[in-house]
Amino acid sequence: MTAMTRRGFVKGAALTPLAFSPLALGQPAPTSTSEKFDIVIAGAGHNSLITAAYLAKAGYRCLVLEGRPIVGGGVKTAELTLKGFRHDTCSSAHQFLFDNPMLRDKELNLEAYGLEYIFPDPVFHMPFADGTSITQWRDPERTITEFAKFSKKDATSYRKMMEEYESVKPILEAVTYTPIGFGKPLNDRLADHPKGKIWQRRLAMSHWEIVRANFEDDHCRSFMLCAPWGNMPPENPVTGRSAYSTFNQQRTSRPLPKGGSGKLSAKQPGALIQNFVDEVTRSKFRIAKPRLLSRLLVDELERIRQTGSPYSPQTDLSKVVQGTAEKIIREANA
Ligand SMILES: Cc1cc2nc3c(=O)[nH]c(=O)nc-3n(C[C@H](O)[C@H](O)[C@H](O)COP(=O)(O)OP(=O)(O)OC[C@H]3O[C@@H](n4cnc5c(N)ncnc54)[C@H](O)[C@@H]3O)c2cc1C
Repeated sequence: MTAMTRRGFVKGAALTPLAFSPLALGQPAPTSTSEKFDIVIAGAGHNSLITAAYLAKAGYRCLVLEGRPIVGGGVKTAELTLKGFRHDTCSSAHQFLFDNPMLRDKELNLEAYGLEYIFPDPVFHMPFADGTSITQWRDPERTITEFAKFSKKDATSYRKMMEEYESVKPILEAVTYTPIGFGKPLNDRLADHPKGKIWQRRLAMSHWEIVRANFEDDHCRSFMLCAPWGNMPPENPVTGRSAYSTFNQQRTSRPLPKGGSGKLSAKQPGALIQNFVDEVTRSKFRIAKPRLLSRLLVDELERIRQTGSPYSPQTDLSKVVQGTAEKIIREANA
């Protein structure tokens, strides 16, 4: 397979829906003035919204349907306690998203829609039952001093691991943000790294094996196991990469959208939603309440079946989606 760039993939992926479109089925393509859509997207969590925004940018008319009254899925901010006090309902720190080309390379230009990040300093504070604590600061030297309170060896390990990780991070990121089959696999990329074999071994190890081998003090070990968060069984093989995740936030802090996590997605005023709606006055967003989209899709499938036409996954899927979208639009416009 020839290597494909991420941009090329995004372009290619944007064309995939054509396989299900009336165009591919030999039917007339939707006109830009009608209430017809190329793509219907189920759910308005941030992953759906990002997908919709890229598709809209590529010129597709998308309809995003959300079953809940507020968009954003796990990326929402709401008054959960007292009036005037807004809390993130689930996600809070957009640390991994921050390394994603969408934000890193400003592919969706969300800053222009008011998305602004703050980078807390201190980054992370871990208090212990014995009254001591470790604080991670944006300044690595200050963090290293925190480790040195407990062990000189652990402070040295922190510095060494951080420096080593910097050299391999571009490779790990390139693999993370390249769909499988669209670029060189991890081991091929590591083969070009001077310590590729060592990194292959580290990634195959468990989070705990790496922490135990490098840190002697329990406070330092706890920090390295739980910052940014406790990962699923750290003793499981192939969780070694998690031992280095604390260095992501050492570098970029824990980026928080100003005004709360929901600023990324929320309708009023969320950068993704605004980008999507703006990019295309041609694209639409609807809250499909009170019924969930899946119910509507099933109803529409049933209606088509009752017409007696033989079932074909490709044509019926296309009809079901288009039929459901039309039904919702009719109701919304009524
Ligand atoms: C407590 C908690 C804390 C977290 N903290 C962080 C953090 O700090 N940083 C971080 O990066 N991640 C964090 N996460 C993870 C993050 O929230 C999720 O990875 C992210 O929300 C997933 O987004 P998504 O778009 O894939 O799905 P979701 O956010 O789950 O969105 C799915 C959407 O689809 C809608 N939907 C589902 N079915 C239908 C249907 N049939 N019809 C219509 N609508 C439908 C749902 O209502 C929902 O709005 C946290 C998660 C939790 C639970």
